[in-house]
Amino acid sequence: MNPIINKAQKIYSENFSKNCYFERAIFLSWYCSKGDCKFCYMSTQKNKIKEPKLAKRRNSSILAEVLLCKLCSWNIEFLSGGYESFSIDELIGLIKDIRLIVNQDIWLNMGVFKKKELNQLKPHIKGVTGAVETTNKKIHKKVCPSKHIYEIEKMFELCDSLNLEKSITIIIGLGETISDFDLLKKFIKKHNISRITFYALNPHKNTPFKKGPDSSYYAEWIARTRICFPDLEIIAGSWHNRLDEISLLLIAGANSITKFKAIKLFNTMYSKKIEQIVKRSKREFKSNLSSVPEFNLEKELSFFNKDKKLEIKKKFLKYLNQMKKNGKNK
Ligand code: SF4
Repeated sequence: MNPIINKAQKIYSENFSKNCYFERAIFLSWYCSKGDCKFCYMSTQKNKIKEPKLAKRRNSSILAEVLLCKLCSWNIEFLSGGYESFSIDELIGLIKDIRLIVNQDIWLNMGVFKKKELNQLKPHIKGVTGAVETTNKKIHKKVCPSKHIYEIEKMFELCDSLNLEKSITIIIGLGETISDFDLLKKFIKKHNISRITFYALNPHKNTPFKKGPDSSYYAEWIARTRICFPDLEIIAGSWHNRLDEISLLLIAGANSITKFKAIKLFNTMYSKKIEQIVKRSKREFKSNLSSVPEFNLEKELSFFNKDKKLEIKKKFLKYLNQMKKNGKNK
């Protein structure tokens, strides 16, 4: 095995437990005021939704998914949505409802916030995620023409004055090489980043990208990050067509995994494969991707009024039925 991966494995085991979780990004909206990042699905939509209100997911559907996360022990990685897709008041209302269901710190990955907005959000969130994607500025300019890194950096400086934590997302496979790792290292140090989510590029139809990165190259980014930052929380994304790499990503020092379509592929050969791979990697998988959870809906939703409870229940049971059906089909 690559000696860098071996070294990262050792550093991981000296600093963390064996626990491994599935991290679920809760998607809030199909709107993004930027909409032109070259790798992003949003950039392929000719008839983009121009009005944020029309693109919003219903709160009842979001809250039903949050309840599923709680019952299946999926961590909420962050609330995710395009730039300017939610007003601050709407976000705060939603976060308050989420925290009635699940007692978990909330991160936001919803673009760049101004100082006044961060001040309003501060009592309700742990931190914000900057969707940096790549720290190679030349590539960044090309692939994210309207999403400027300096705006994210400015937000991070504001976070420092407010004591909010900062995390970033990085996509591997956008054209960078491993010699760009120093740029990432400097960025993490400069902004005192406490969590990083890596993704292997998943090429969408009608984008200029045709191929994701090799798993060993992807894992090397994670391993180098683990070696330089022993305490950093690292989350690694893997798509269902790349699941074999999960073992390597965990050995390279990732704490947890994300990006799996956990509802659509619940209790399928894919979810079972993840559980087996994590076990084989000598880690303990604490999340449930295969057994329909037990629950008491009345109790779980007791904080909500009758109408809201009914709406959430309906959505929850719809998700649950889909998860049960998967088990019968596969
Ligand atoms: S800012 Fe985010 S959601 Fe908007 S186009 Fe870029 S990657 Fe997609």
